[in-house]
Amino acid sequence: MNVNQSIAGVPARSRAVENLVHGRDTTDGAGVRLTRVLTHDLQRRLDPFLMLDAFRNENADDYIGGFPDHPHRGFETVTYMIAGRMRHHDSAGNAGLLEPGGAQWMTAGSGLIHSELPEQQEGLMEGFQLWLNLPAAKKMQAPYYKDFAPAAIPEFTADNGVHVRVIAGASHGVAGAVQRPDTLPLYLDIHLPAGTQFVQPLAAGHNAFVYTYRGAVEVVGTQVVDRTMAILANDGAEAIVLQAEEAARVILVAGQPLNEPIAQYGPFVMNTEAEIRQAMRDYSAGLFSNGPVRKD
Ligand code: MN
Repeated sequence: MNVNQSIAGVPARSRAVENLVHGRDTTDGAGVRLTRVLTHDLQRRLDPFLMLDAFRNENADDYIGGFPDHPHRGFETVTYMIAGRMRHHDSAGNAGLLEPGGAQWMTAGSGLIHSELPEQQEGLMEGFQLWLNLPAAKKMQAPYYKDFAPAAIPEFTADNGVHVRVIAGASHGVAGAVQRPDTLPLYLDIHLPAGTQFVQPLAAGHNAFVYTYRGAVEVVGTQVVDRTMAILANDGAEAIVLQAEEAARVILVAGQPLNEPIAQYGPFVMNTEAEIRQAMRDYSAGLFSNGPVRKD
C-alpha cells in the first residue's frame, strides 16, 4: 500500500505547527510523577480534548503509588500503555489489566469510582492518559468501559515500513478500535523508521496535535523532538505530513470540537458550575458507587 507520498494521487499539503508545548511536570494520584502535556489553559484550543498526561518512569518510587480510588463524571478517559502493566478496579467490582500496547476506553458518563494501580514492582512504566469530552446531551449517560488487549488494536504497516496502530478513528482504510460520532476522535500511535514520511488526512475543522515520545519528527520544517507536543494550525490543510530523519514514535490525536461551555473541577467536567456542584453532592451522597458496565 502506498500511503506515503500523496492522498489519491494529489501531493498532500500539511498542516503547519502552530505551537510547541513541553507540558508541566507534576504529580497526581498517590505521588505518580507525570507530565501534564495538555493543560487546562489548552482545553478550548484543543476542544474536544481536555487533558493529556504522559508518564515515563524508570524509577518505581515515581509510579508505585498509582491512582487509588477516585471519581469521574462527564467525559471519557483513554489510557494507552507503551510499557509496564496497570491494574484497574472500579465501583461495580470490575477489574482488568492494561498491558504494553493495550488500551482502556472508559466513559465516565454519570459517574464512577475507580483505581489505576501498577501491576509491577520495578521497570519502566510508560503511557498516556487522554481525556475526551462528552457532548452535554451525553454527560449523564450510563458509564461503561472496554479493555483492548494489545492484539485488539488494529494496525498496519505501509510499504516504507511506517507502522500505525489505530486506537480510534481510521487511517488509510483501517478502522480503529473505537469510533465516536460526536467528536470523531482520531488516535494513532505511529512508528516511523529513519528516512520515512507518513501522510494522514485530517478534517480541516478538527483540532489536532502530535506528541513525540521517541526520536524526532518534522512537520513543515518544524522539529518536534522527544517529549514535545505540536499543536497543529487550523490553516485549511486537510492532512498532516510527518517526516522522520531518525527513527521516531509519535501519537497523533485529532477531533471535532464540541464548542460547548467547559466547567471543570478536578475529575468532574460538565458545562456549568451548577452541574459541578451537583456532581460534588452526588459523589458525597454515594451515587457514584454503582459503577460502569464492562464491555469486552
Ligand atoms: Mn481515573
